[in-house]
Amino acid sequence: MRCNYCKKQCIKKGKYKTIQRYQCKDCKKYQQQKYIRPIIPEYKYEWVIKLNNECCGISSIGRLLSISKSSVQRMIIRIASTIQKPVYKENNQSYEMDELRTYCSNKNNECWIIYAINKATGDVIDFIVGRRTKENVKFVVDSLLSLNPKRIYTDKLNIYPRLISSIIHKVNKNCVNILHRCVSLYAYYINSLRFFAGCFRYSTVL
Ligand SMILES: [Zn+2]
Repeated sequence: MRCNYCKKQCIKKGKYKTIQRYQCKDCKKYQQQKYIRPIIPEYKYEWVIKLNNECCGISSIGRLLSISKSSVQRMIIRIASTIQKPVYKENNQSYEMDELRTYCSNKNNECWIIYAINKATGDVIDFIVGRRTKENVKFVVDSLLSLNPKRIYTDKLNIYPRLISSIIHKVNKNCVNILHRCVSLYAYYINSLRFFAGCFRYSTVL
């Protein structure tokens, strides 16, 4: 057989359970001729969504459903690819914008989730995962401006006054109802945030 990595010749080298293993003569990597992935039943996908929404980590989900961590990661990426962004057709509403600081993989790899919610309904109107730059903040602000907002409440971040007209912009000091925000974020969208964050981790360097 030819090496899966460098296409050079491989030799038979031991067995894994009953499956013949090969080693590349050139790059020395061990491999199999064929890899059989167990088929994961659909109901486990449902459970991945439920457990993810309850903030179970990838390892916990794997343990609870008896599937490997890498399978859980693949399932999350597959589920995330089917999430569609909702289209809102409202206007004259009040919104809250905020930035959540988090990280990808390790704490040095800081990233932000910049998001906007409708103050009354708690719907997450838009969000972006990335650095806290003017471009990223503008991306979410533009989504709100397209809905002719009555008010946009933000924190004191100095980027906002440059993007939002002072007529509709209100700076929140401490009147953001954190519980309300958390509940709405988690209940409505945290699954997609986490799914998207999962995808980001594997597809881009932030
Ligand atoms: Zn090789």
